[in-house]
Amino acid sequence: MNTYKYLLIGGYAAAHAAHAIRAREAEATILLINAEKHLPYERPPLSKDAIFDISITPQQTEVFNQAWYEANNIELLLNTKVVRVNRDSRTVILESGSEIGFEKLLLAPGASAKKPEFEGADLPNVFSIRSWQDIEPLRDAIDVGGKVVVIGGSYLGVEIASGCLKRGLDVTIVDSHPGPWSKFASPELQQFIQSSYEKLGAKWVFNQKVKSVGGQGKAQNVETEAGLLPCDFIIAATGATLNTDLAKECGLEIDPKHGIVVDELLRSSDKAIFVAGDCACFHDSSVGRRWHTEHYQNALWQGAIAGANMAGDSQTFDHAPYFFSDFLDLHMILRGDPQGGKNTKVIGDMESGEFIQLYANDEKIVKMALAITHNKPKSEKIAADLEPFVKSNRSLNSVSKSDFSGFFGT
Ligand SMILES: Cc1cc2nc3c(=O)[nH]c(=O)nc-3n(C[C@H](O)[C@H](O)[C@H](O)COP(=O)(O)OP(=O)(O)OC[C@H]3O[C@@H](n4cnc5c(N)ncnc54)[C@H](O)[C@@H]3O)c2cc1C
Repeated sequence: MNTYKYLLIGGYAAAHAAHAIRAREAEATILLINAEKHLPYERPPLSKDAIFDISITPQQTEVFNQAWYEANNIELLLNTKVVRVNRDSRTVILESGSEIGFEKLLLAPGASAKKPEFEGADLPNVFSIRSWQDIEPLRDAIDVGGKVVVIGGSYLGVEIASGCLKRGLDVTIVDSHPGPWSKFASPELQQFIQSSYEKLGAKWVFNQKVKSVGGQGKAQNVETEAGLLPCDFIIAATGATLNTDLAKECGLEIDPKHGIVVDELLRSSDKAIFVAGDCACFHDSSVGRRWHTEHYQNALWQGAIAGANMAGDSQTFDHAPYFFSDFLDLHMILRGDPQGGKNTKVIGDMESGEFIQLYANDEKIVKMALAITHNKPKSEKIAADLEPFVKSNRSLNSVSKSDFSGFFGT
C-alpha cells in the first residue's frame, strides 16, 4: 500500500491546495484523487460561454495543466472514486478496492446537481449542468434548437437562459418564486433581470412549481399549475446537493444544511482531515454565522488556505463572501451577506445596467453590496473595492456615489 503525506480528494479547491502545499514543501508526497476524467477545472464557464461557444474545451478551463502537475511532482488519480475514509488506519479505499494511506487528508468533494423531484425528470432530454460530462449532450440538443424550458431562476438558470438566448432558442424560465434571483435580490432588481430577458424574447413563468414533465420517450412538455409548456428539451437548474457522504460515513461532524463542520483553520472534527470549498461549513466572521458557500472564489481561497495549513501554516479564512455571475451582456459581483437585509439603495442607473445596489439590515447598516456593469474588468475591480466597504458597518444613509468614484468614473 502506498502512503502519501498529503492526500487530496476533490477538484478545483483541491488543485489550489496542492499548489499551496508544494509552495511550502518541495519534497512531500502529494496525491490528488478525482472522480472525473478531466484535470481539475473551473466550473463557471459551463453555464456561460461553454453553452453558446462550442469551441471551448475542458482543457481551456483547467486550473493547472498536465505539465504543471508533472513539474511539481503532484500525482494524479483521475476517473477514480474514493468510497471510504478509514480514520483509524489513516487510509482511503477506492472503488476498485485498493487502499491508499495518508498522513493528512483534504476533503473537497464539492456538490452534485440536485436531481429534480418531478415525474419525468429521468427522460433523456432533461439536462442538468454540473460537469463537463453534462455539456456534450446538452450542446447537441442546443444545436438542434427549438424551445427550451429552463427550470429554476437562480443565478445558474439565469446564466443558462442567457446562453440559450444567444444561440437563438425560444426560452422559457420557470421558477416557484415570484422573481429571479429570489434568494437575495430585491423586487426592483428582480424586475430589472426579468425585463432584460423579456426584451430579448424570453418568457418567465413565476410562482409555479413543475409538477411533471411529459412526452413519448422524451420530454415534450412541462406541466405546472398554470398549464402545459411545450418544449423540445429541458434544463433543470434546481440547486445542488453537498457531497458529504464520505465525511458522514467516517463520523466527521456534519451540519445537516451546510456540510462538513470545520474550525477556523479549516480542520474537520478530525484534526488530520481538512475541508475546503462548497462542502466546508465554516464560521464566517464577516457574516457572523456558520454556513457554507457554493462559490468559485470561496473554493479558491479555502483550497489555498487549507493546503497552507496542512503544511503547517495557521491561516484563518477572513474574506467577505464573493459571488459573480455573467449573463446577457452584463457582469454581476456580489460581496457580503446575501441575507444582508431588505433596506436597499441603488446608486447609478439600473435601467442602463451600470449600478451598485446596497442591502442594509434593520438598523440600516450595509451588509451586502452588488454591482452590475457591462464591463468585466470593471466588475473585477469593484469586487475588491466592495470588500472593505461591506465590512465597515456603513450606514445606508451615509453612502453616496462619491464612495464609488472609480466605478462611476467620476
Ligand atoms: C455550472 C456551474 C457554474 C458556476 N458558476 C459560478 C459563478 O459564476 N460564480 C461563482 O462564484 N460560482 C460558480 N459556480 C460554483 C463554483 O464552481 C463552485 O463553488 C466550485 O467549483 C466549488 O469547488 P469545489 O472544489 O468545492 O468543488 P468541485 O469543483 O465540485 O470539485 C469537487 C470534485 O470532487 C470530486 N469528488 C467528489 N467526491 C469524490 C470522491 N468520493 N472521490 C473522488 N472524487 C470525488 C468531484 O467529482 C469533483 O470533481 C458554478 C458552479 C457550476 C456547477
